Amino acid sequence: MNAPVKKQHLIDPEICIRCNTCEETCPIDAVTHNDDNYVVDAEKCNYCMDCISPCPTGAIDNWRVVLRTYSLDDQFSWTELPKQAELSIAGATAEAVEAFEDEVDKLLAEAHQGLGGKAVAPASASKPSVNLFRRAKPATARVAGNFRLTDNAAENDVRHIILDFGDVDFPVLEGQSIGIVPPGVDLEGNSHAVRLYSIASPRDGEKPNANNVALTVKREEKGVCSNYLCSLKKGDTVQVTGPFGSTFLMPDDPSANIVMICTGTGSAPFRAFTERRRRTMPNAPGKLVLFFGARRPEELPYFGPLQKLPKSLMTQHLCYSRVPGQPKTYVQDRMREESAALAALLKDKATHVFICGLKGMEHGVDEAFADACRKDGLDWGALKTEMRSAGRYHVETY
Ligand code: NAP
Repeated sequence: MNAPVKKQHLIDPEICIRCNTCEETCPIDAVTHNDDNYVVDAEKCNYCMDCISPCPTGAIDNWRVVLRTYSLDDQFSWTELPKQAELSIAGATAEAVEAFEDEVDKLLAEAHQGLGGKAVAPASASKPSVNLFRRAKPATARVAGNFRLTDNAAENDVRHIILDFGDVDFPVLEGQSIGIVPPGVDLEGNSHAVRLYSIASPRDGEKPNANNVALTVKREEKGVCSNYLCSLKKGDTVQVTGPFGSTFLMPDDPSANIVMICTGTGSAPFRAFTERRRRTMPNAPGKLVLFFGARRPEELPYFGPLQKLPKSLMTQHLCYSRVPGQPKTYVQDRMREESAALAALLKDKATHVFICGLKGMEHGVDEAFADACRKDGLDWGALKTEMRSAGRYHVETY
């Protein structure tokens, strides 16, 4: 018997950051959105999986086995994913029930085996904990500090915010994110969506063995969550979900070379990576190389602490786009100047590339890698595919 069950591809509205990457990537326009959610049209989705790997949060990689597919309107109304329902068919013969159950088991196994497992974590990364705290049952953290990172004269108010979990177990790894639940409701009276922020501290906290995490947050003029976070005072409590992310993870291997490319607050995970190396393996043979773009030195998060890092720990390329009297330099411009060194790193199988920050830089960075490879007789397209499937190429841009 052909059991009337179907595997349905869904997007987790709690984790999705509405970056539009899945909709842009889907070759058959099966992904769409409204003001609330990004959703997958079950009538169109053919499980090609092209959208899975580019999703920066993993929200896209969700599956249910259903008797009746969830409609677009069902999905638009969700604030969280429905649980996998128990499935049964009423009034069927024993054989029909058995065949039905076999089919359900097969589809569930396929779904849980991560048909969407295209995005791969570095082989040496530690195993992450994910989704321990959801919107319905968040963890409560207390603000242990809120410091301005940019110069007082800078246009941007970027802050380093430390959230302490007290005696709540909230394990994180470098590269993961957490969700912040902004208090209050929007103009329609609905709770605000959870916002994700990368963790800017290493797994053992701002200071070794502290149960806290740091975030790097830029105050956006009309940003509900960024204004809430940037205005927090020491001692305030915050509702937190997560941790999230199981692929954009730091390789925990001292021989790994890590090329980190970021703009603005996209530097958050790389502060975590750098601190992890500095704290636990300061003499690691693997190289850390940072390309970091900001408008001016005064606007560059962590400018002061970066100056104090030993040169032996990390090679820094700080690139400024708006210093009066100086040419506009983006990270990809500096990468071109460093193309020989980059090509040498790309040839090494111990090299991992991480890109984080503005979506707009993705194309320029890709072109800069392609140019570096071309000059050195390497095929960037093939190399990137190989690096991605080995968990050595990661992009998280919004
Ligand atoms: P920003 O200050 O607006 O820009 C940083 C630098 O990037 C500026 O020098 C800017 O130059 C330059 N830039 C602009 N377009 C570029 C392009 N196409 N290629 C290369 N460089 C370009 O940055 P931001 O507001 O901090 O934004 C950072 C991004 O990171 C946001 O999209 C944020 O969502 C994302 N992010 C944040 C976190 C977090 O935890 N907070 C984590 C991951 C990602 P000009 O403006 O002079 O052109």
